[in-house]
Amino acid sequence: DYAPSMEDDSGARAWLARHGGRFGHFIGGKFTAPSEGFETREPASGKVLAVVSQGLEGDVNQAVAAARKAQKGWAVLSGHERALKLYALARIIQRNARLLAVLEALDNGKPVRETRDIDIPLAARHFYHHAGWAQLQESQFPDHDPVGVIGQVIPWNFPLLMLAWKVAPALALGNTVVLKPAEATPLTALLFAELAQAAGLPEGVLNVVTGDGETGALVTKHEDIDKVAFTGSTEVGRKIREATAGSGKSLMLELGGKSPCVVFEDADLDAAVEGVVDAIWFNQGQVCCAGSRLLVHEAVAEDFHARLAVRMQTLRLGSSLDKTIDMGPVIDAGQRARIASMVDCAVASGAELVQAKIVTPETGTFYPPTLLCNVPATAEAATEEIFGPVAVSMTFRTPGEAAQLANHSRYGLAASIWSENINQALELAAKVEAGIVWVNCTNVMDAGVGFGGVKESGFGREGGREGCYDYLKPRLFAKAPERKPF
Ligand code: NAD
Repeated sequence: DYAPSMEDDSGARAWLARHGGRFGHFIGGKFTAPSEGFETREPASGKVLAVVSQGLEGDVNQAVAAARKAQKGWAVLSGHERALKLYALARIIQRNARLLAVLEALDNGKPVRETRDIDIPLAARHFYHHAGWAQLQESQFPDHDPVGVIGQVIPWNFPLLMLAWKVAPALALGNTVVLKPAEATPLTALLFAELAQAAGLPEGVLNVVTGDGETGALVTKHEDIDKVAFTGSTEVGRKIREATAGSGKSLMLELGGKSPCVVFEDADLDAAVEGVVDAIWFNQGQVCCAGSRLLVHEAVAEDFHARLAVRMQTLRLGSSLDKTIDMGPVIDAGQRARIASMVDCAVASGAELVQAKIVTPETGTFYPPTLLCNVPATAEAATEEIFGPVAVSMTFRTPGEAAQLANHSRYGLAASIWSENINQALELAAKVEAGIVWVNCTNVMDAGVGFGGVKESGFGREGGREGCYDYLKPRLFAKAPERKPF
């Protein structure tokens, strides 16, 4: 019983129409002619949005050559000059924020309220932040040089934001890029490349080649790529590690997670409920650091689960362009089937299913917010990444048991701890094996703080000073390279 309020999508549709609904790759500052490829669809309606080219070996060669050609000229600019370009990229994201937000919502299915308030502003923030590092490069990293040409492969869950996390630090520090966006969500990367060109980014500094995993493999294996930066599943991360082993390329991997969300008996339970909403139902649970494993003190578990059940019922599911919704569809039918099958298996192994009785739209790949209680710690749903809006809950009795359960995972991306006793929270924080630990909050990120995992969640950091080192290499000669005077 609420009235939908639809976002105007005419700008995004006009941009698609301007390209005739067909896209080539963006190489050396311009679009190539569209070639054979694949359709990208709106998850909310199933309708085709555009046809995008499948990058073949020749396309990848062309993109790497363009990036190589541009690299020396880009690296030789003074940090200040590069900072101005990064600043211009941040500004152009802000000036086109609505267009990018709507296109992202259409292509990925996530609520436009989130793309507008989270994805797009954080992407701009990443470029602003890294404009600062470009400016400071000579003074802060006097004995480092850019790595060179970077091959970057990204997932579909935060398409433009993951682009920003990869492209901003690479460019800021004098590298050039060949980016392969996810096949499900290639559109904002193509729009961004076009906008970047208009904002004065020299040609060849950022190249976008679209395609599926085969194109990704061509990028990561290319012999003229100096470094591979990958965000995606642990499974594909492993393949890339094997494919690049012994090649001399450096590698950074930002992979999957199964992050614990620990609720002590003295937690502010209402705040923790909101934390869980944000941890696992935000972005339909398709978040690498999603708090997908709830570890709840047994004294409050019943009360906590009851509050969660009430809260989940108030979440609204609908079209990604509806500004009043909390959740959109998951990325595609395959992902929805995978989520459903993992939930069914958990129920068959004895878990209790708590699912919101929400009427979902007839078309679109919707899956309701879900809680699985009393899941055996060894069940697949408790150990594997579901990548959907499914929280798996287990109970603990002592802080020691909480630490043991939290670390009972091959992943180590993030964790959140809920307690009104700060000593208790910090003591556990120090024991949890995770790249990032939040206390009484979740999903708090900033471009100034290195984000990344441990264990099978990968290695390397994105953001802040730590992240800069991933796009630099120690200088071999004592003498600094000549830079163009500004
Ligand atoms: P995915 O691994 O299936 O695909 C990621 C990208 O890799 C896509 O662009 C895909 O085309 C490409 N790819 C596939 N096979 C390849 C190959 N053999 N060689 C090179 N590239 C290949 O992941 P996804 O389904 O797009 O995204 C979901 C995953 O991403 C989840 O596991 C999630 O946890 C992870 N993720 C991690 C972070 C992080 O920062 N740690 C952030 C976001 C998402």
